[in-house]
Amino acid sequence: LIQLQGVNKHFGDFHALKDIDLTIPRGQVAIVLGPSGSGKSTLCRTINRLETIDDGGRILIDGKPLPAEGRELARLRAEVGMVFQSFNLFAHKSILDNVTLGPIRVKGKKKAAAEAHAMELLERVGVAHQAKKLPAQLSGGQQQRVAIARALAMEPKALLFDEPTSALDPEMVQEVLDVMVGLATEGMTMVVVTHEMGFARKAGDRVIFMADGAILEDTDPESFFTNPQHDRARDFLGKIL
Ligand code: ATP
Ligand code: MG
Repeated sequence: LIQLQGVNKHFGDFHALKDIDLTIPRGQVAIVLGPSGSGKSTLCRTINRLETIDDGGRILIDGKPLPAEGRELARLRAEVGMVFQSFNLFAHKSILDNVTLGPIRVKGKKKAAAEAHAMELLERVGVAHQAKKLPAQLSGGQQQRVAIARALAMEPKALLFDEPTSALDPEMVQEVLDVMVGLATEGMTMVVVTHEMGFARKAGDRVIFMADGAILEDTDPESFFTNPQHDRARDFLGKIL
C-alpha cells in the first residue's frame, strides 16, 4: 500500500534519510522506533509529502506515485492521514468543524453529510458530546482523539502517527492508545512512531528500528524486543524498557 524506493532527504549538509526502501502492506501496523534525531518524524513527514524527497527516490501509494504539489497532492495526501504529537487542531473552530473542514474543502462533501459522518467518528472516539466546544475546552487526550477522528473523516487508506501520546499527561495516554488498538484491530494500515512498548507489542505487526537516518532492523515485535540484532537497538531498548 505504501512503498518507499530509495528515498533520501537532506537538510543542507545533513543526510536525514538514507536510501530508505520500505513497503507497508495493507492492514499492517508498523511501529517505528529509534533514538532522538534518527529520522522517525522525517520519515512520516516525507511519506505524507510534508517534506520533499531528493535524489530521485519515489513514494508510491497503492502503486501510484505521490505528486510533488498542487491539488492532486492535496487529494492524495488525504489518502494517508497524519496524527501529530501536538494535535494541531484549529484553535478557533469547534470540534465538529475541525472534523468536517477537510472533507468539505478537499473532498467536496456536502456539509450535512460531512457532519453526520463526523458525529459518527466523534462517537467512536468517545467525544461526541463535546462536538460544539473549542479544542482548548477539551483535555489533551480528548483533543488527540478528535485529531484521530479528523484524520479518519478523510477516509484515508492509511494513517501515520508521530508520537501521538508523547505530549499527554500519563492518565490520558491509554484512552488514545485504546482508540489506536481499535483501528489496528479493524485492519487500518498504520505507521506509528511511539515509545509505548505495550502498544507496540500488542498492536504492532512489525518493528522498524531507525538510527542515523537508516533502517537498522525490520522485524516482528517479539523478535525485536527479545533478540535485537544491533548494538544500537540493544542500547536503545536498555534505555526505554
Ligand atoms: P525525535 O525522537 O526527537 O522526535 P526523530 O527520530 O523524529 O527524533 P527527526 O525529527 O526526523 O528525528 O530529525 C532527524 C534529524 O533531522 C535530526 O538531526 C534533526 O535535527 C534533523 N532535522 C529535522 N527537520 C529538520 C529541518 N527542518 N531542518 C534541518 N534539520 C532538520
Ligand atoms: Mg520525531
